[in-house]
Amino acid sequence: GADPILRRAARSVRPAQPNPVPPAEAAPPGAESGGAAGEITMYYQPQIAIATGEVVGVEALLRWRHPRRGMVDPEELIRVAEQSAVMRLLTRRVVDDVVEQLAKWSATGLGLRAAVNVSVRDLHTGEIADQIADRLTRYGVAPDRLQLEITEGALMADPRRVLTTITRLHRIGVGIALDDFGTGYSSLQHLRRLPLSEVKVDRSFVLGMAEDSDDAAIVRSTIELAKALGLRVVAEGVEDERTWRMLHAAGCDAAQGWFYARPMPAEELVAWLARYRPLRPIGGPDEAD
Ligand code: C2E
Ligand code: MG
Ligand code: MG
Ligand code: MG
Repeated sequence: GADPILRRAARSVRPAQPNPVPPAEAAPPGAESGGAAGEITMYYQPQIAIATGEVVGVEALLRWRHPRRGMVDPEELIRVAEQSAVMRLLTRRVVDDVVEQLAKWSATGLGLRAAVNVSVRDLHTGEIADQIADRLTRYGVAPDRLQLEITEGALMADPRRVLTTITRLHRIGVGIALDDFGTGYSSLQHLRRLPLSEVKVDRSFVLGMAEDSDDAAIVRSTIELAKALGLRVVAEGVEDERTWRMLHAAGCDAAQGWFYARPMPAEELVAWLARYRPLRPIGGPDEAD
């Protein structure tokens, strides 16, 4: 039968026109459960240490293949879900799936770390911290295998309650990343006050940095600032080799993007990892200008 979470979401999500998810990311035909609302799954995108080419973790990204509308734009799905209790249900599902997946990987000797995106409302109560603590214990997954990605928008909504929740998670050992850095408000306050382990440079700056010197300057300053504060810095949206080299020259710790791999289902990730040969910026940085 159809998933009740999806039946609720299905009523409000518009068809994506044109389909914004590239065909390479699409699930194979027949992957649907047959339920009228289709199926939600997690896709995983590798994160690569720039200096060594080593895979340091994955970001878990929600995918919903609607039976008639095809792959729904995740941002649209999240935006709609956030207006109701659907978001809470989705987040619970995502946390369950990802912690279970971490346990499965661990059992096969894959010591991956996974990052999960959470929304504004998820952090307003302690519920998510309770759930995460419970699942980590139940599946025997070490807390430092899990990271939460929060956005500055989420922080602005109710900074005090959000701070309480993420401080609890930080204390049990779950990493906290500030996502889409540079696109929200009061970024510097957040960097100073929150128990962060990582900053993610928003893809809107990274995508343009090879062509646009302003974008490049913003990315470089963000990397420098994050490192000065003792935070790991990850660039998202790395689509080409030139950008990768520029990030290497700028001292960025890790990157994710189509240059390395698109988000993919868990089974595909295992095959990708088996094929993967670390890429290194041969001959050192040549884009330091
Ligand atoms: P995000 O957390 O900033 O995720 C990064 C986005 O960049 C993902 O979009 C990813 O597919 C995309 N991306 C990765 N590499 C490249 C690249 O090289 N080029 C380009 N152009 N894009 C790249 P996606 O999967 O469409 O997700 C969009 C947003 O939806 C996410 O942005 C996140 O804010 C939200 N989201 C996704 N899954 C979840 C979830 O499980 N829960 C919540 N609350 N939000 C989610
Ligand atoms: Mg993210
Ligand atoms: Mg982001
Ligand atoms: Mg985003």
